[in-house]
Amino acid sequence: MTTEMGHPCVILPEEQAPESTQHCERCELFKQRNRIIWGEGNPESSLMLILDNPGAREDREGNPFLCGTRETLQLGMREAGMDTHAVYVTYLLKRRPIRAYNKPATRAACLSHLQLQLLQKQPSVLFGFGNAVAAALFPQQENATVKELRGNWHKFGGMPIGFTYHPLAVRRRPNLLRFFVEDLKALKEKWEEKTARE
Ligand code: SF4
Repeated sequence: MTTEMGHPCVILPEEQAPESTQHCERCELFKQRNRIIWGEGNPESSLMLILDNPGAREDREGNPFLCGTRETLQLGMREAGMDTHAVYVTYLLKRRPIRAYNKPATRAACLSHLQLQLLQKQPSVLFGFGNAVAAALFPQQENATVKELRGNWHKFGGMPIGFTYHPLAVRRRPNLLRFFVEDLKALKEKWEEKTARE
């Protein structure tokens, strides 16, 4: 357990990637040698949160470590009254990039893994963080940015999806925290509404 601003943060259990994807070489990121991070949290959750790519997961000594992205995500969720253990968190790119890479080609290549997760898990609600996720999920849409998309519900693969700022943007610009928490509160309401109907 770690803390940020006096609040407890947790390292959520990781979900192992399916056997068939563990050695994926579909894009150039496999050459950067970071392992695949399939997702974490509750794998059965009906709420799927989508970040752009995994950050650092272990410190220099190899101990599990909570990166700033996940810390701020959890801070926002707590402020919004959400249970951090109840959700599933995954990534657009399943490997952590450590050097420059071809972003459009890599995002397009890795999207099939996210689609597989959606097919297998059938979540009721999706929620994306940051412009990279917005642009990758809505490539046909001009101005698919958080600024354009937040505050409304959209559809991806037939599922409702909302967007908010990337947690790192919130860390850099603390004035965004208020909007971040507002968006997460709207997400909580939507999720509760969907769950009550199911
Ligand atoms: S980032 Fe995604 S597509 Fe690229 S090698 Fe890793 S799992 Fe495969």
